[in-house]
Amino acid sequence: MTAEIPHPESDTTPIHGRAGFRTHLDRSQFPEGGMPSEEAYELLHTGLMLDGRETLNLASFVTTWMEPEAEQLIQDTLRKNHIDHDEYPAASLIEEGCVHMLGDLFNAPDPAEVVGVGTIGSSEAIMLGLLAHKRAWVNRRKEAGLDHSTPNVVYGAETHVVWDKFANYFDVEMRKIPMRPDRYVLAVEDVEAVIDENTIAVGAVLGTTHIGEADPIEDLNDLLVRIKTEKGWNIPLHVDGASGGFIAPFAEPDLLWDFRLEQVASINVSGHKYGLVYPGVGWLVFRDKSKLPEDLVFSVNYLGGAQPTYTFNFSRGSAMIQAQMYNFLRLGRTGYTSIVRNMLANAAHLNEALAASGRFEILNPGLAEPVVTFKLADDPGFDVYHLSARLRENGWIVPAYSLPPDAEDVHLLRVVVRLDLSRLMIDLLLSDLDKAYNDLAAEQPKQRPTTKPDVWTHPAHSAAHGKARTGLGR
Ligand SMILES: *Cc1c(COP(=O)(O)O)cnc(C)c1O
Repeated sequence: MTAEIPHPESDTTPIHGRAGFRTHLDRSQFPEGGMPSEEAYELLHTGLMLDGRETLNLASFVTTWMEPEAEQLIQDTLRKNHIDHDEYPAASLIEEGCVHMLGDLFNAPDPAEVVGVGTIGSSEAIMLGLLAHKRAWVNRRKEAGLDHSTPNVVYGAETHVVWDKFANYFDVEMRKIPMRPDRYVLAVEDVEAVIDENTIAVGAVLGTTHIGEADPIEDLNDLLVRIKTEKGWNIPLHVDGASGGFIAPFAEPDLLWDFRLEQVASINVSGHKYGLVYPGVGWLVFRDKSKLPEDLVFSVNYLGGAQPTYTFNFSRGSAMIQAQMYNFLRLGRTGYTSIVRNMLANAAHLNEALAASGRFEILNPGLAEPVVTFKLADDPGFDVYHLSARLRENGWIVPAYSLPPDAEDVHLLRVVVRLDLSRLMIDLLLSDLDKAYNDLAAEQPKQRPTTKPDVWTHPAHSAAHGKARTGLGR
């Protein structure tokens, strides 16, 4: 029918009168011709409105607000390919500066001696860190004339999926310690039971993905120091500080989790989480250069200069690295501290209000970071998945999930408090949660909400038909 209606178009036809606005977009065909720039922009700009709103996405640790000057600097540096060290020497000096400043923040014995690298995020940083420990272990075993065919890595179920990926991709036996039904971080005795001479590293988390707690890092360090003396195994501790690495130094400067501990050999942190930069930057910092085997560092002779590198990525934008330095200079310790205290105060308020309602049980009352995890106190005839879906109707994205084995019977909701979540918004969230609870209690729904179909693998479904997909991993 529509095909028969004439659609004359000229240079002055407005966007909403043009073919692009009524034509089916076939995602499986590479477009033959182009379209005007403003039309392409409008199509994508409006289409993307179907996504959740970033600030209301309480599932994510990743930064959703930066100052206008930071955004300007990002614009200024978008065109710089960060790998071109010879062409952009100032940009790469900024990266080095960030690494040393982090060495200082993490109390390295000598911040000038730390080595490290800016990565795309903590995932790349963790893989690179563990690969360095694997190679160091191989080198030690070879020198001693010992077998080096069965490396293992020890960590708990509270870690991020990237730890499993490392073990899988790089052929290292995964010794993953299950959670206990009532304990969601590592127990030192469980670690002692599984480490041996083939352990390349022990992983500990500051700010666990599922609960936001901290592993007992100081006790794990003591264990590894004792093992070094008793058995001669020098097992490094890698601290995954993806989220906590930018909280503890400001909220609890006396907490011992970093290079003040002898066996802590490397630390990763996500610049795009509480480093307060937009997605695309993480950091790996080694205690000193003895922890990064020289045979892993490539001296790339490229476009006229020799540059040592230890990364997976080659080309990448420089913008987020520059934005990280912007925050370091702009905020300093005092600025970060004021923001961290606000986030913790807002999280504590949310915690207290939830507990006071009598409807919820808080899983991490200690608030090692501004993350609130809670479960239903009893069985009101619906579950956390219903609540998550109902909140989504008000625009809030609050994930519901269950814990890993052996705590898989715990079903919970998680709210990550970021800098752009004000007390006012938390009060609105609480009132929406209250209403959702009352409505569901009255309705007594029978079934769990369905999860959203993946629109890219099932093109027949449109995004608008899906229900909220809940999940973790950021
Ligand atoms: C987010 C997170 C990661 C992964 O970090 P990315 O920066 O998203 O790559 C790893 N570990 C922990 C504990 C995390 O919170």
